Amino acid sequence: MRSFLACFEAACGAEYPVTEVIYNCPKCGGLLEVRYEGERGDPWTLKQTWRERRMSNQPLDQSGVWRYREMFPFLEDERHVMTLREGNTPLLDGCLAASYAGVRRIRFKHQGFNPTGSFKDNGMTAGTSQAVRLGMKRVACVSTGNTSASMAAYAAMAGLDPIILIPNGNIAFGKLGQALDYGAKTLQVEANFDQILALVRVLAEKLGIYLLNSVNPFRIEGQKSIVIEMMDQLDWEVPDWIVVPGGNLGNISAFGKGVREMLELGLIDRLPKFAVVQAEGASPFYEFMKDPKEGGFTANTHPETLATAIKIGDPVSWPKAWQTVGVNGVVEKASEQEIADAKAVIGRCGIGCEPASAATLAGIKKLVAAGRIGPEDRIVAVLTGNVLKDPDYIYRYHTGQLKDPAGRDLIGNFANPPVVVPNDVEVIAKLLGA
Ligand SMILES: *Cc1c(COP(=O)(O)O)cnc(C)c1O
Ligand SMILES: [Zn+2]
Repeated sequence: MRSFLACFEAACGAEYPVTEVIYNCPKCGGLLEVRYEGERGDPWTLKQTWRERRMSNQPLDQSGVWRYREMFPFLEDERHVMTLREGNTPLLDGCLAASYAGVRRIRFKHQGFNPTGSFKDNGMTAGTSQAVRLGMKRVACVSTGNTSASMAAYAAMAGLDPIILIPNGNIAFGKLGQALDYGAKTLQVEANFDQILALVRVLAEKLGIYLLNSVNPFRIEGQKSIVIEMMDQLDWEVPDWIVVPGGNLGNISAFGKGVREMLELGLIDRLPKFAVVQAEGASPFYEFMKDPKEGGFTANTHPETLATAIKIGDPVSWPKAWQTVGVNGVVEKASEQEIADAKAVIGRCGIGCEPASAATLAGIKKLVAAGRIGPEDRIVAVLTGNVLKDPDYIYRYHTGQLKDPAGRDLIGNFANPPVVVPNDVEVIAKLLGA
C-alpha cells in the first residue's frame, strides 16, 4: 500500500512523500490531500474484520477511528498511533427534534461522546500520530476551543508540547478549561480566528512546530471515520441526508472524501446528500454556494455568532467542501434565535449538544419547510460537541439573559428557568402540585 500527499488542485497535480512536513502545495499553494494506491481488501472481509475488532481488547481495535485503519493506511508503524479510544459515538433517536423539524425521524450521531467532547478527537488522533511518526516535539493550533482542547489532550498523552492560540475573550469556558488542564501553553491573541491562523502558520514554519489545524490533511483522514462508523452502525445502508454544521469546513470535506472512498471500495452502493449549516453571521460558504464559481469565494472579515465553534469567516477547506456539496448537497444558514431554540429542543430529547451542533436541527427545519428535505427522508445529523462545553450559553438561554452578538435579546421559547424557593415543605409541595 502506497500513501502520498497530493495537491488538491487538479490543474497542478503535484505529489509529495507522506513524510514531508507541508500543509499546502509548495508549487501552487493549493490544499493537500492524502491518497493511497494498492489493494485494501474486498468489502465483505473489511466489514467482517471491523465488526470482529469490536470484541478485541487491543487499543487500536477499541478506537472508533483506528478500528477502520484500512481506510487511512498512512502510518507504517502502528506503534506511532496515539489513541484515547476516540470515536465509538452513538446514533441516538431524537423524537422531539424530528417533530420540531417536521420529519418522521432524525438520528443524531453524537460526536460529543468523544474523550474531549467533540469530533475533533477523530481527527486529532490521526494528526498527533503523524506528528509522532515525523519525530516532531511541539504541536500548535489556533482554535475556537474544541481543537485546542483535543490537541492538548492528545499531545499530552503523546509526550509532545502543545501550544494553542485562541481569540482573546471568545472561547467557551469548558473548552479553555480543558486546554489548561491538559497542560497546553495557552496564548490569548488580540485577533480573530482567521487572523490568528495566518499568524500560527508563520510561527510553525519559523520554529519547526507541527501545525494541527484542519488544513493538516491527516486530521481530515481521521475525521473520515465519523461517516465510516456511521455507515457501520446503519449496517451500510446509506441515509438520504447527512447534516453537519460548517465552520472551517474540514468536517464536511472529510465526510465527502470518506463516502467517495467507501463507494469506490464497494462498501456502500450510493452516496448520501449532504446539508451544511452555517450561522447567519458567519456564512461565507452559504453565500458562495448561491452562485459558485472559480475565484468567487469572498471571506467574511467580521464573523459573528454565539455558536463560537463555527465563528469562522475564511474557512480554509472551502474548495474541498465545494467538491462535496457542489455535486450532492445544499448549504443552509440559521439565525441565532433558530440555533438557540433548536439547541433547547435537542436538550429536551435528553441528548443535548453545544450551540454550533444545534445548527443542524435549525437547518433541517428550514430545509424541510423549503421542501428540500422530505418528511420521510432518512436523516442523520452530526452533533459535533458536548452539551457541557458551553454552560454559560445554556444558563443565559433558560434565564432570559441570552443576547445575540448585536446585543439584541434572544427569546427563550423553550426556556426552563430554575426556581428559587424557601426552605419550606408546604410551599415546595404546593409548587409541585401535591
Ligand atoms: C470545529 C467544530 C465545528 C466546525 O467544524 P469544521 O470542520 O470547522 O467545519 C462545528 N461544531 C463544533 C462543536 C466544532 O468543534
Ligand atoms: Zn499544487
